[in-house]
Amino acid sequence: MAELRLSETRDLTRIERIGAHSHIRGLGLDSVLEPRAVSEGMVGQIKARKAAGVTLELIRDGKISGRAILIAGQPGTGKIAIAMGIAKSLGQETPFTMIAGSEIFSLEMSKTEALTQAFRKAIGVRIKEETDVIEGEVVTISIDRPASSGGSVKKTGKITMKTTDMESNFDLGWKLIEPLDKEKVQSGDVIVLDRFCGKITKLGRSFTRSRDFDVMGSKTKFVQCPEGELEKRKEVLHSVTLHEIDVINSRTQGYLALFTGDTGEIRSETREQSDTKVAEWREEGKAEIVPGVLFIDEVHMLDIECFSFLNRALENDMSPILVVATNRGMTTIRGTNQISAHGIPIDFLDRLLIITTQPYTQDEIRNILEIRCQEEDVEMNEEAKQLLTLIGCNTSLRYAIHLINAAALACLKRKGKVVEIQDIERVYRLFLDTKRSMQYLVEHESEYLF
Ligand code: ATP
Repeated sequence: MAELRLSETRDLTRIERIGAHSHIRGLGLDSVLEPRAVSEGMVGQIKARKAAGVTLELIRDGKISGRAILIAGQPGTGKIAIAMGIAKSLGQETPFTMIAGSEIFSLEMSKTEALTQAFRKAIGVRIKEETDVIEGEVVTISIDRPASSGGSVKKTGKITMKTTDMESNFDLGWKLIEPLDKEKVQSGDVIVLDRFCGKITKLGRSFTRSRDFDVMGSKTKFVQCPEGELEKRKEVLHSVTLHEIDVINSRTQGYLALFTGDTGEIRSETREQSDTKVAEWREEGKAEIVPGVLFIDEVHMLDIECFSFLNRALENDMSPILVVATNRGMTTIRGTNQISAHGIPIDFLDRLLIITTQPYTQDEIRNILEIRCQEEDVEMNEEAKQLLTLIGCNTSLRYAIHLINAAALACLKRKGKVVEIQDIERVYRLFLDTKRSMQYLVEHESEYLF
């Protein structure tokens, strides 16, 4: 029984969550920004990707300021996928923040505070930091090995290194690998002791990647930095967002709030302090701003006040690239009686570069499902793929994508290795798509509360 529980626990630790868009690695464009049919996880949607490519050029040329991008199209036509593709094409480190329009309405903070936080989460600050490098002449080096560390492979140990500047004790860890006798580090050698990376580098001679030293009688192999790496390591880059700087500045234990997500409202003075600090760092060449992408899904859920906030925020020098999306056509602007395209007021619409997405063809659905099978590590035979494609065409792409994992579980349960038609049929019967769910509700209307 105890053994069973143990293996169950082990299985649980292997659970991994694969995001719905984890297969998107860019917009799949060639060097002249023309979309490739299938590339970087992207399939079809040629016109929309081409338009997104043009916006990329505008962004790179710094010509997007004061404007935003709207992606409009039916549900499941890849609006989020394209927004992510834009962010990834700008560089893998580009901050990407995603919120849904409805998320900003809460009792905890005002709408404008929630929007401000979202904006600042999408602005990265790359901070250059000098690592803790100490140079000095070696006076003595001695190794204190734990009694149990016999044999040829040493995993732990302490080294005391006295240089002209300091005396240091540090853990050798993986650096003490095996006893070999090739070269000596002697008193008087100039060494660089890099505490940040925990590595030792001996200067003044050219070394290959790793070198063996006899340190004061203890034969020890040290791993050395590859050539040129030392310079890089003197300047370590940390990436944070403006919002993280605000949170850390806003309270004594600010960084803890970053883990809980419970950051509350942030005072405008705190933000001003962060901005001043970042401006100073930029001037001193210690930091640079990395504008990211803020994606607001269901933008029709924002109200008229939020739209006027966005109008103003887009004028700010440090504004991230704003991409909004909606699957609504003509609808009421929230907070008014006015009907407008996508529920967006005319003055904000006027600032938008509008990209539309189209429904997928059967072949495109098939391609996307195949990419998702690979991403989720699910093996599926040809008949099952055909059936899943048909389901995708008749229900929705998203529903068909959800069935992949469920079918893989059904396959596992019957101890199969490859997902077959029977697995797809099984999960199709178990989980309803929206059409069948609505049909069920109509048929059982009388049994539900009103
Ligand atoms: P909604 O309007 O319901 O929010 P959406 O238009 O934003 O939907 P997505 O969520 O982007 O649609 O797409 C549904 C799924 O299909 C996601 O897993 C997405 O990554 C994938 N997908 C959509 N379009 C493409 C595409 N062109 N290439 C590859 N994957 C895609």
